Amino acid sequence: MTEQVQQVVGFLGRGVVPPDQPVIVADDLGLTRGDGVFDATRVVIDGAGRRVDNLEAHLARFVRSIGLLEGPAPDLDAWRRLIAEAVAACPFTGEAILKIIWTRGRESVHTDPVGLLTITPMTSAAVAQRAGVRVAALSRGVASDAFADAPWLLGGAKSLSYGVNVAVKREAARRGADDVLFVSTDGYCLEGPTSALVVAFGDRLVTTPRGATGILASITQEIIFEAATAAGWRTASELLRAEQLAGADGSWLVSSVRGAAPILELDGRPLPQNADLTARVVGWSGF
Ligand code: PLP
Repeated sequence: MTEQVQQVVGFLGRGVVPPDQPVIVADDLGLTRGDGVFDATRVVIDGAGRRVDNLEAHLARFVRSIGLLEGPAPDLDAWRRLIAEAVAACPFTGEAILKIIWTRGRESVHTDPVGLLTITPMTSAAVAQRAGVRVAALSRGVASDAFADAPWLLGGAKSLSYGVNVAVKREAARRGADDVLFVSTDGYCLEGPTSALVVAFGDRLVTTPRGATGILASITQEIIFEAATAAGWRTASELLRAEQLAGADGSWLVSSVRGAAPILELDGRPLPQNADLTARVVGWSGF
């Protein structure tokens, strides 16, 4: 007996399908090789209607990820139609997560790439983490410039190969932490396994530089920086050593699913907290 999840599933070319209907074939390269990409954002269904947060920015990053894997440009209008159909079909209200997934297709026969999506209600665990996370700093095993001039490493692509990003969360749990901050072998903060890092020093917000670090370009971080700039704050992309977070005014792990979650502790040591500042950063994130 499988437990019935409340989920909406869509398949490009077929539309919304029953959630327990098999849609992936056994030799799909996304499944067998992680040869594919995805993107994710929040859906909110309430009295004001049904909205997908920052959909066009997520579609643009999806296109960039596919491009980094040298896949053909997706038909974005077909994606927009599938997403609209799936959002309209949601039988639940409240917050949910939209995941759009692209795989190269099948290994043993030539097929077109595969596109599918899921919309799943937000878990209470994800909501609880918005109040703050205890974080373990874990090595990513590469230097902060490991991705420079090495596009085959797929830096910046939201690839389906997330086994490491999931494994570090198990390690965090073993250490009594809720989440992880990846650190480079030369000691610099990178990103979380499903989030970006934003740090405040006075009225200046700092995040990890993209490019050579290989981190994902976070849409939430961009939105926060745009709003902060409009409010007269300064922003910068700079490498920070993990020790520097203890001297900051606040540090947050940010993502489209959680907005901005303050980092309460790093490796068991409390980090500075400022509830007003967190409220401001959360507001800038659109949550
Ligand atoms: N970095 C990684 C590795 C991620 O997986 C994510 C989101 O899932 C982020 C950063 C945050 O990106 P966004 O703010 O666009 O959700």
